[in-house]
Amino acid sequence: MKKMVDAKEIIQAAQSYKKKLIGFLREIIAIPSPSGEEKKVAKRIAREMRRVGFDEVFIDELGSVVGKIGKGRIKILYDAHIDTVDIGDRKKWSFDPYKGKNKKGIIYGRGACDDKGCVASILYGGRLIKELGLAGDYTLYFTASVREEIHEGLALSRIIEKRRIRPDYVLIGEPSNLNIGYGHKGRIELKITTKGKSCHAATPGRGKNAIYGMAPIISRIERLNKKLKAKEPLGKGMIAVTRIETENTSLNTIPDDCAIYLDRRTTLGETKGKVIKELKSLLGGSRAKVEVLKHENGDERYYPGWILDEDHPLILAGIETCRTLFGKKPKIRTWPFCTNGSYTMGMKRIPTMGFGPGDPRYAHAIDERIAIDTLVPAVSFYALFPFILSA
Ligand SMILES: [Zn+2]
Repeated sequence: MKKMVDAKEIIQAAQSYKKKLIGFLREIIAIPSPSGEEKKVAKRIAREMRRVGFDEVFIDELGSVVGKIGKGRIKILYDAHIDTVDIGDRKKWSFDPYKGKNKKGIIYGRGACDDKGCVASILYGGRLIKELGLAGDYTLYFTASVREEIHEGLALSRIIEKRRIRPDYVLIGEPSNLNIGYGHKGRIELKITTKGKSCHAATPGRGKNAIYGMAPIISRIERLNKKLKAKEPLGKGMIAVTRIETENTSLNTIPDDCAIYLDRRTTLGETKGKVIKELKSLLGGSRAKVEVLKHENGDERYYPGWILDEDHPLILAGIETCRTLFGKKPKIRTWPFCTNGSYTMGMKRIPTMGFGPGDPRYAHAIDERIAIDTLVPAVSFYALFPFILSA
């Protein structure tokens, strides 16, 4: 079964796809796909998967494209998301964010690095597997998933639970500069509300101002952020008040309600339960209420952090793949942002690691971009990795 791997041949094949790969990436950048509006780009991606030779391709109920190669014992799932964040203020961009500008070895546009560069590289990695016959005792699934930017894990939970695709390993394709990602912090979105009693603002003593009730809570949250402890390798948890509001519509009425929204980034050991308990203890004697925000479908806006052992076989296979192809050991790093790994590893405990072309600092940025000389090596990595992992 095991055949000798010719690294040179793989790199050359990846190189030979360069023109087509760039063309395809520019094309999918030019199809805007903000979260929830991925239909058109999904169709284009499904067509390309079929064209390059994936054994099976379908689009699921939620709109994610799922491709399959091989029918071996070890099930490996590659995931890269096809939705993007909004472009923000168009005037701040120095070029059309939906054109896929190609200049001096760089492709520009919304989604170039987060995450369409990964989508294109994985897809062409699949082509390489088929063309060079890099099959092994593995089944490779590629999910080009929807809605990651607003609801990490949703698309994969549908595929894993409803479609019963149960991977042994997951590889998250998100920009990592061709290094290995082995975890990231989690995040929780919360809301605290205080109640008061409204009355005419000319006689405030007759009521109870809900905003005044909130004020000391806000100060305590600011202090809490400084006190949160670091836990390596994920570092320190964070908490921030990101919005304050009241339903009060009249400027001369004492408000009887106030709400604040919190973004809480969690390090290792900071579970949802602990986070809520910690906040409740800040409320003192007040009757303020703490809750975890929910999505429309009822899922909580809670995405656990995770970390995989540095010497896990998945990571070791990643290192060996890089050594074989590029002759050097990649850096093993945590990601600065949340990914679908919150679901696969954070919730389902399926060994997960990350790898992708592109520099993560351009994700969500104005003038987003990706270097072509990271795309082509990524293609060769995605093609060889399952072979090494399943050997
Ligand atoms: Zn992303």
